[in-house]
Amino acid sequence: MAKIQMKNAVAELDGDEMTRVLWSVIKEKLLEPFVELKTEYYDLGLKARDDSDDAVTYEAAAAIKRLGVGVKCATITSNAARMQEYSLKHLTPSPNGIIRAELDGTVFRTPVLVSNIHGSVSCWKKPLVLGRHAYGDVYKNCELSVPGPGKAELVFTGADGTELRKTIMEMPGAGIIQGIHNTDKSIESFARSCFLYGLSEKLDVWFATKDTISKTYDGRFKEIFQRIYDTEFKERYKNAGITYFYTLIDDAVARVMRSEGGFLWACKNYDGDVMSDMVASACGSLAMMTSVLVSPDGVFEYEAAHGTVQRHYYRYLKGEKTSTNPVALIFAWTGALAKRAELDGTAELGAFARRLEQATLKTIEDGFMTGDLARIAEPPAKQVLDSWEFIEEIARRLEASYKTA
Ligand code: NAP
Ligand code: MG
Repeated sequence: MAKIQMKNAVAELDGDEMTRVLWSVIKEKLLEPFVELKTEYYDLGLKARDDSDDAVTYEAAAAIKRLGVGVKCATITSNAARMQEYSLKHLTPSPNGIIRAELDGTVFRTPVLVSNIHGSVSCWKKPLVLGRHAYGDVYKNCELSVPGPGKAELVFTGADGTELRKTIMEMPGAGIIQGIHNTDKSIESFARSCFLYGLSEKLDVWFATKDTISKTYDGRFKEIFQRIYDTEFKERYKNAGITYFYTLIDDAVARVMRSEGGFLWACKNYDGDVMSDMVASACGSLAMMTSVLVSPDGVFEYEAAHGTVQRHYYRYLKGEKTSTNPVALIFAWTGALAKRAELDGTAELGAFARRLEQATLKTIEDGFMTGDLARIAEPPAKQVLDSWEFIEEIARRLEASYKTA
């Protein structure tokens, strides 16, 4: 079979640890034998980010914007322990945080459902799609540890010099203070991305905040969502037979647990971070969660929802062939290639992406899977495979699908 050609490149962002190991296996076994891969490669491994003072992360974000499509491996967010482990010059901020801010995008996460993996929330019949605001709040915070008693204030100096000032707290002793922000523009983009995604996937949209407590901050989120819905989407939603529903975050959490799924849950940045991990693990495994960052001007970055799987990586370094699940990484690639195909009008590439997804699902449904899934599969797994064997099984089915076609 002649290799499938790509018209334009995708931005490829390599990462760290176990996911970096699997990244190259996926390329070698599942992509390169079939597709003449065209990528602009950026090494976002921790050492490379540190060596370049994070310039490589900004270059990668610019490439995603320029090319319109990116695919990203999981990356380490540095902390004190990592600084020692990798002899870093300094602590680098989260690369995902940087890219999300650069693209002003919203992250949508959807679990990959297979027939022999039953989630732990039995009432969820359809995928629950989570839309996570990807800008600001605690992810762009400014925090201070104060040594003793004193006055903590919030001060805003306007461009014209006008000052707004409020006392946060007369601190009775040592403690901690945090300042966070968001912008109307980013919240508007977030609302638009969510309403557009809901419309394109024909999903009801739910949104929730804590506006009873945070009347100004969370209250602004609520207002903006309502205004954008009323002025830009209400009619279109009515025609599509879908709805927008706002409630308090604690009420939303309670309702989600009793729901059937099958809607888009728009979450503020932190809620989305936490709740997407909960939804993913309830659906089987973090490794079965796909993730795409969508900017309001239509730029897409695909990645896995999980991290670099550090514990598996240390076992791999000792020589073990770990049973790390590559499904979310594979779906990051298929998502990116399918989007590239859609933008370029290259049907053969789009069909390849869908075939690879089908081959992946079929492998699991045939009873061949990694350990995380084998623990919860019903009927039980026929064979628990390491990552390399699992990828081989997928490659075999992918090849077979071209032979029978
Ligand atoms: P993690 O990579 O999400 O893994 C946490 C645990 O979840 C693993 O130890 C494993 O459980 C299970 N797991 C996750 N992905 C799996 C997979 N593909 N197959 C099988 N099991 C899987 O989180 P972490 O190990 O605590 O974090 C490692 C690094 O990832 C951190 O430095 C963090 O900064 C980074 N991180 C990056 C991203 C990103 O780039 N998008 C997101 C989150 C975290 P068992 O050990 O029980 O098997
Ligand atoms: Mg998280």
